[in-house]
Amino acid sequence: MTNHSVPTRRGVLRVAAAAGAGAFTVRAPGGRATAAPRRPAVVVTRHTGPYEVMALLDAHGAFPGTRQGVFPDATDADWVRARRLDPAAFGPDDTWELDFRCYAVRGPGGRVTLVDTGVGPAGSPASAWAPVPGRLPAVLRHAGIERDDVDTVVLTHLHEDHYGWTVGPDGTPMFPDARHIVQRTEIDALAAGDSALSYVVEPLRAAGLLHPVDGRVTVRGRAGRGSLTAVPTPGHTAGHQSVLVDGGRDSIMITGDVLVHAVQLAAPDVAYRLEHDRPTARRTRHTLLTEARTHDRVLATSHINQPFVRP
Ligand SMILES: [Zn+2]
Repeated sequence: MTNHSVPTRRGVLRVAAAAGAGAFTVRAPGGRATAAPRRPAVVVTRHTGPYEVMALLDAHGAFPGTRQGVFPDATDADWVRARRLDPAAFGPDDTWELDFRCYAVRGPGGRVTLVDTGVGPAGSPASAWAPVPGRLPAVLRHAGIERDDVDTVVLTHLHEDHYGWTVGPDGTPMFPDARHIVQRTEIDALAAGDSALSYVVEPLRAAGLLHPVDGRVTVRGRAGRGSLTAVPTPGHTAGHQSVLVDGGRDSIMITGDVLVHAVQLAAPDVAYRLEHDRPTARRTRHTLLTEARTHDRVLATSHINQPFVRP
């Protein structure tokens, strides 16, 4: 299957970023906020069973384009509810302010699974539109995580703001001891010329670190005793996946981009303009939210301005 949305998506983001470049607000995690009142926490930790789930803030900034432009179906009532859930997402002039976050899960024995790698350094593919450089290497140090503690990286999907630190500025893998789990569907859906191929897939494959999987797979642990599971959650992209951290008594779902804005928490039917397959994305969102409510599960999202939310 060819993912026709990728060139369109990059085109849309790049044009919008060029038009709104002056409006960009970029803050260093933990650094001094220059323009906005909010100072997001760099590392926020939550526990479930034997696992420590750390939200790592790689970057924060304004999305290129207006929020109504990227969520065209959202009604005034939806925005009112979304603002209550995530007031920090509402910037001046109808802009969308968002975090760009990765998650690290530390289990017994200290081994770390990293979920997503953020926007990356200056010059990464996300530079065309996102606030770079991201700060993930410094944030990992702040969290007490060495690169060789990371034995698994799960990439929820192959968009620029989720794979940016997979390789360093020299193009070599940042986590050389880690298998990198990606859904095979996600790789197969990349269009020829997609930057994810040259920036992520090829370097990982050359280093023997690419670990394509098909469907639901256990990443770590054993079901019922504390486990991490990669769960297909398609729609945002063809092979999008989320990571369920099941501590036994409670659980945390690291959602990736199943929902990118609180408006999709307030009104799950609201589509995001750059979703690959909107009906599938909508179904996935409903399923994930229903399951989360049924199991009293906390959501760990990439872009809502609080790392952990209860739906
Ligand atoms: Zn994203």
